[in-house]
Amino acid sequence: MASPLTYTSLDDIQDAVSYLRVNFDTGKTRPLAFRKFQIQQLYDLVKNNEERLYEALAKDMNKPRSEALSGDIAPVLEECLYFLENLDGLAKEEKTSPRLGMHAMDTVKVRRDPLGVVLIIGCWNYPVQLSLVPLVGAIAAGNTVLLKLSEVSAHTAALLTELIPRYLNSDAYRVINGAVEETTYLLEQKFDHIFYTGSPMVGKIVMKAASKHLTGVTLELGGKSPAVITPEADMQTVANRIAFGKFYNCGQICIAVDYVLCPADRLDAFVSAFTKTVKEWFGEDPKTSKDYARLVSVRHVDRIAGLIQNRKSGGIQFGGQVDRDERYIAPTLITDVKFDDDVLMGDEIFGPVLPVITYNSLDEAITMIKKNPPPLVLYVFSKKQKLIEQVLQNTQSGGVCVNDTLMHQAEYSLPFGGIGNSGVGNYHGHRSFRAFTHERGILQKKQQLEFVNKVRYPPYNSTRDAILRNFMVTHPLVVYLKQKRGSIKAALILIVLFLVYLKKRA
Ligand code: NAD
Repeated sequence: MASPLTYTSLDDIQDAVSYLRVNFDTGKTRPLAFRKFQIQQLYDLVKNNEERLYEALAKDMNKPRSEALSGDIAPVLEECLYFLENLDGLAKEEKTSPRLGMHAMDTVKVRRDPLGVVLIIGCWNYPVQLSLVPLVGAIAAGNTVLLKLSEVSAHTAALLTELIPRYLNSDAYRVINGAVEETTYLLEQKFDHIFYTGSPMVGKIVMKAASKHLTGVTLELGGKSPAVITPEADMQTVANRIAFGKFYNCGQICIAVDYVLCPADRLDAFVSAFTKTVKEWFGEDPKTSKDYARLVSVRHVDRIAGLIQNRKSGGIQFGGQVDRDERYIAPTLITDVKFDDDVLMGDEIFGPVLPVITYNSLDEAITMIKKNPPPLVLYVFSKKQKLIEQVLQNTQSGGVCVNDTLMHQAEYSLPFGGIGNSGVGNYHGHRSFRAFTHERGILQKKQQLEFVNKVRYPPYNSTRDAILRNFMVTHPLVVYLKQKRGSIKAALILIVLFLVYLKKRA
């Protein structure tokens, strides 16, 4: 079938970048009223075209309507409303108390300025959320934006390409489309920030390209996110929640449970609970279930089928069926997988295959997690806070979700982002605003009292240096007294009470 998407020519890409630069320089995108109007328009875009977006997402990957609602539509609507309500407060100048004694009489403040021309590169698995949620933050912060949609989810990209210019101001926000050639050319242009969602491999290409212009980046990447089950966990609940985190969008989600670490003596309980869940949710033949998505491309079907066929360990408990024409891979559970199986345990799976590795002590599970780079999320299933703490204290990850999967990503009061191989920076809510904002520190003095400044002007001498030192370095005694503030207060109260007592007795 011919792609519904037309790629942007390289000339048009260059024109768009220049045009956005000129328009940023006019200051058009800075007024809060302009930003809010555009955010309202973006809200209307999604709200008024919800049905068409569901259709496009279904064409791209058979995404069930409920998953499209919770994973694509709702987050964008909610983020627009958040910024409409909070933008005034977020954009306000922040007055700070000066630390240096010599600035006690001055104004010290932080302005929240836009970064400039921002490039956002979206990803195909949540093509609405992962393109438009960063866009809301970039608009809120007052930038002009070039949005590169994912060519992989071509139907959704084609629809957004049609809708965005109808709702948003084209002087300030432009959409472009293309694949590797167009992205490579795009990355040669100078931007003031690049926000990229995708694989760590392309993340490195983005960072390298950005370094040529010393452009800042936010990289929302992926990795192998484990789920650790501790021995006393309630297996049916755990199985339900892990199945949700594995088969939502057919496993094509950066925070999918990539593999499970299960206590060896609870493996049978996990397998029977997980099998029950999958049967209840998708029936005897998941291919006929309307609630089970498809892989986005044949390339991904072949890649995941290859993981199942070429695995170096483990036995299939259920699943493994592949229909290339339908881009279908059955929900698949593989147990007795070895951690050093470089096929199943090499790269992120990003599909509906769940390897289970058993462990004998929690320390052994922690050691396995630490052999991989820090994942985007770490899932822990436990009823014991001590065990949860043991896992958290000895590991690193972008985020953590305890006793559930995926839902931490929907909680926009939390920062969302990776660490090391799983990403650079974070976003959502006020953190999106910060990701696209330059905090411009301002010290504002008056022209009076020039004699005070003599202390820092030449000719230098030891007396001036001594005064300067007192102005610039807090005396350690002051720090000590501040630290002991509580005890000093208590001692003073006791002394006062004692004096009152003495006076009454006298
Ligand atoms: P990808 O990183 O391969 O591709 C993303 C885009 O980059 C493509 O659309 C293409 O236009 C461009 N691109 C690809 N190869 C390129 C190259 N060599 N040079 C220049 N540009 C190139 O995306 P993918 O692997 O299909 O996405 C899946 C990955 O994204 C997974 O690792 C997943 O975990 C991650 N992801 C992360 C998040 C998050 O929020 N952290 C969300 C979704 C997906």
